[in-house]
Amino acid sequence: MKAYTYLDRGKFGFTEKERPHAADARDAVVRVTLASICTSDLHIMHGSVPRAVKGIAVGHEMVGVVEEAGSAVPFRRGDRVAVNVETYCGKCFFCRRGFVNNCTDPNGGWALGCRIDGGQAEYVRVPYADTGLTKIPDHVSDEAALFTGDILATGYWAADIAGIGQGDTVFIIGAGPTGICALLCARLKAPGRVIVCEKDPARRRFVTEHYPDVLIVPPEEAEPFVRAHSAHGGADAVIEAAGTAESFRLAWACARPNAVVAVVALYDEPQILPLPEMYGKNLIFKTGGVDGCRCGEIMELIAAGKIDTTPLITHTFAFSELDRAYALFGSKAEGVMKIAIRM
Ligand SMILES: [Zn+2]
Ligand SMILES: [Zn+2]
Repeated sequence: MKAYTYLDRGKFGFTEKERPHAADARDAVVRVTLASICTSDLHIMHGSVPRAVKGIAVGHEMVGVVEEAGSAVPFRRGDRVAVNVETYCGKCFFCRRGFVNNCTDPNGGWALGCRIDGGQAEYVRVPYADTGLTKIPDHVSDEAALFTGDILATGYWAADIAGIGQGDTVFIIGAGPTGICALLCARLKAPGRVIVCEKDPARRRFVTEHYPDVLIVPPEEAEPFVRAHSAHGGADAVIEAAGTAESFRLAWACARPNAVVAVVALYDEPQILPLPEMYGKNLIFKTGGVDGCRCGEIMELIAAGKIDTTPLITHTFAFSELDRAYALFGSKAEGVMKIAIRM
């Protein structure tokens, strides 16, 4: 089968690989029907994911059809499924507490398309498929389900750990795909106001066009704007999904005292918390990568029409055009948000 592969630092390309089979009772093999490219794929390409293994098929955001299922997997051949970015055992100390990103199993956490073959390929073997697959209802399209296991799971998790309460002012930094997913999930918590900060005018237009109830501000105006639009001197909850030094600073600077600051962005450099300046503000920081174990709830919200991420798909390419798709996604040209890859 054809697989898009991490060949070397800076280089992905097509290789021929053996079609995978379900080797374990908890394995499934999924025939990929629609895949996507994630910023984390670019991080692998650029060599900034030390754990990524050269030679693996990349891709960790995909939907497809179950081709083979091990005896412990509650899916049948022909079931349409969304694949979770994280594979997890469901039994270790962290899994039992819902912290599946830190699953201690060798195949636990973000393995697919990083340490083991992923889904920018005709077929993908999913370990722990009993916990890592979500059935797609018949009336939900592949496009509508595509982001369930990765960026939408991240937005859902971010909105949750940010502790958003009814009537709160929520401040989201970054209107890229993850920021938009966080926005969609934050709105489900009935906040009083959502303010999005974004430096790119095209992305600001995207927010204005699709979510007219949301306030949008460029970073240089964010601090006075958030103060003016919140009741207690800053946002009640902050979600930082931009990943720059400036966005990191805004995350705590725009929070009101005792707010929760959820940092879900991935940075290229260490960031500095100026604790003397922040003393007495008593902020709660929550950081890290998604615990993607609530995809069933997410799929129900998609099926009920409460979350729609299809506007994020700004471009569609054929599997054979992946080189071009990566070049476009990396350049952020043509107003690209997310790319769907038709297999
Ligand atoms: Zn990803
Ligand atoms: Zn585990």
